[in-house]
Amino acid sequence: MNSPLALLGGTPAVRKPEPHFTWPPVSDSTHKAVTDQLGRAVSIYDRSGIIAHLEDALADYFGVQYALLTSSGTAALYSMYASAGIRPGMEVIVPAYTFFATVTPLLHLGAIPILAECDERGNLDPADVVARITHRTRAIVVTHMWGTPADTSELRRIADLHRLRLFEDGSHAHGAIGSSRKVGAFGDAAAFSMNGPKPLSAGEGGFLLTDDPEIYYGALLHGQYNKRCRSEIPETDTLHRYAVTGMGLKHRIHPVAAAIGLEQLARLGSYLDGRERVAGRMIQFLNRVPGISVVEPIEGDRSSWYGMILKYEPAELDGLPIDRYFEAVQAEGAIEADRPGSTCPLNLLPLFQEPGALFPGLASRFAYAPGQFPRAEAFHGSIIKLPVWHQEDDFRTADNYAEAFRKVSAHHTDLIETGAKRG
Ligand SMILES: *Cc1c(COP(=O)(O)O)cnc(C)c1O
Repeated sequence: MNSPLALLGGTPAVRKPEPHFTWPPVSDSTHKAVTDQLGRAVSIYDRSGIIAHLEDALADYFGVQYALLTSSGTAALYSMYASAGIRPGMEVIVPAYTFFATVTPLLHLGAIPILAECDERGNLDPADVVARITHRTRAIVVTHMWGTPADTSELRRIADLHRLRLFEDGSHAHGAIGSSRKVGAFGDAAAFSMNGPKPLSAGEGGFLLTDDPEIYYGALLHGQYNKRCRSEIPETDTLHRYAVTGMGLKHRIHPVAAAIGLEQLARLGSYLDGRERVAGRMIQFLNRVPGISVVEPIEGDRSSWYGMILKYEPAELDGLPIDRYFEAVQAEGAIEADRPGSTCPLNLLPLFQEPGALFPGLASRFAYAPGQFPRAEAFHGSIIKLPVWHQEDDFRTADNYAEAFRKVSAHHTDLIETGAKRG
């Protein structure tokens, strides 16, 4: 058959050589920040030097009292839950649709994750949260998926009404704005990753934000111990006597990673502005393409555009399966288009179906199964993720990617016919 689709022998829409997207942006000033740090200190035990500089800058950027750097986002989440008093048997309502590390630290604390459904943006659905509150519920956790702020003001209202802790996982959403405030400032505490591709990247690292001194001191004891704890936890605090050992875990960030993080933070605003421009351009184009629609933030909110999520609607393309559509998009050279795999509804993962082999204490406490979260599962099954570039130099790549989708949708019947012939 003669088709313009690259999958069927036509010319690809994206012909730029790889890579098409890299993150974080590494410039001369990033190199300088690293070499400068190598000359200063590569190991820091207290809140001094680059550690203090970055923590101060983060507290300032997010408008919170305390920022605590950690070795990873997972460590920040773990310290956040431990310091806020999450204990064995407590129920914590979490998104069914999130990256698993939002929830796995709770398992180490013996808490029971109560999964809840998502809304049409893939974010935690406040109404379903309310439906799952019991007398054992202690907290609600929300992730701002792919950078789109969740309905934070409603979740805050629900948490206050039921006297529950509200925790945020902001790992996709540094600098995103929900209800006129930066995400990370709504919860009793928030945890962020600064892992490789995250909007604010230190290569590896994470941080915790809170206004609550008890959570801050608890998080210090959970993973920083000795010098930091002795100098920062007031002697009048009942926990000060544990300062030397803390809880015996170590979650310190590497000073070189902190140096990268500080250098990147200075440019985060310009990255986000750039992404907003590219996203606007892509949305205008893509929302006219049959078969897909862009997940956009709530009116007035602002995404970090960690990913641009396209919802696939097969009914608009004569029922063409998403697998075949996606195959054709990739063949157009849109290699950064992705169907997220490991970030999936947690009830689809063995760890949440049969936790007992790895967490014996939780063996009989929960056992999720496929089919229990139809909205989260349908969302996961129907999305294609794109990166959002931030520089004008990348307008062309973004346009070519959008063109790949337009082309595949416009010629989708070619795929149905060839599919039928093959089958
Ligand atoms: C990346 C990520 C984490 C884990 O962060 P690490 O720094 O990789 O430990 C947790 N939650 C979400 C939503 C993430 O995207």
